[in-house]
Amino acid sequence: MARDLLQHNIDIAKKRFDFLVKNYTGARFNNLEIVEFLGSSKEGFIVKLLCDCGAMIDRPFTRIKNNRIKSCPSCGRKRRAELLKVDMPVCKERLHSIWCNMKTRCTNKNSPSFNNYGARGIEICDLWLNSYEEFKLWSLNNGYDDSLSLDRVDNDGNYEPSNCRWTNQREQTLNSRVRSDNSTGERCISKLRGKYQLTIDGKYYGVYESIELAIFNRDSLLGYLDKRIV
Ligand SMILES: [Zn+2]
Repeated sequence: MARDLLQHNIDIAKKRFDFLVKNYTGARFNNLEIVEFLGSSKEGFIVKLLCDCGAMIDRPFTRIKNNRIKSCPSCGRKRRAELLKVDMPVCKERLHSIWCNMKTRCTNKNSPSFNNYGARGIEICDLWLNSYEEFKLWSLNNGYDDSLSLDRVDNDGNYEPSNCRWTNQREQTLNSRVRSDNSTGERCISKLRGKYQLTIDGKYYGVYESIELAIFNRDSLLGYLDKRIV
């Protein structure tokens, strides 16, 4: 009786194996192609796979079918590194990452800090924008060391040699306090290079010649926004 049951289970497993071999040999999952079913293990049937890069690996079939494994380990590492690169450039030295971050703030609309830099019209001089070597040269000639951060003397000015210096964090906090005090007394409106900048809920809505114009635009925008919410 027990023997019959065992035989029955073996038959079922054999049938399932034959079914998978017939239907999935040559099938593609992500970067992998199933070359051959090798047999069973604790994790179920094992398959031999060919990765797009030419590497051969053996893995459990269920993990391939569930998209848990999408390529050979080497291609997986490369893909993860590529994903990281999109948002966070892999930088060799601290100064290089400072340069990368400065460019991101000023030029990448998807950056969370773009609103406070690029959108406010803060630019990077061509020399620095196009050449890390030039930025590095200026930095080393102007007192850079690994404890300092890059600061703009005029918080509304550009990233350029005449407006930048290396300071410790303390000095920089002091300087940004001047900026937050540089208020017009009007909600959402701050002074920017003698003009008036409108910012609502962290979003930038332009720079105006007069405070009256900024106020007019703020009120009409808020009216518009309120209507939209309702
Ligand atoms: Zn591969």
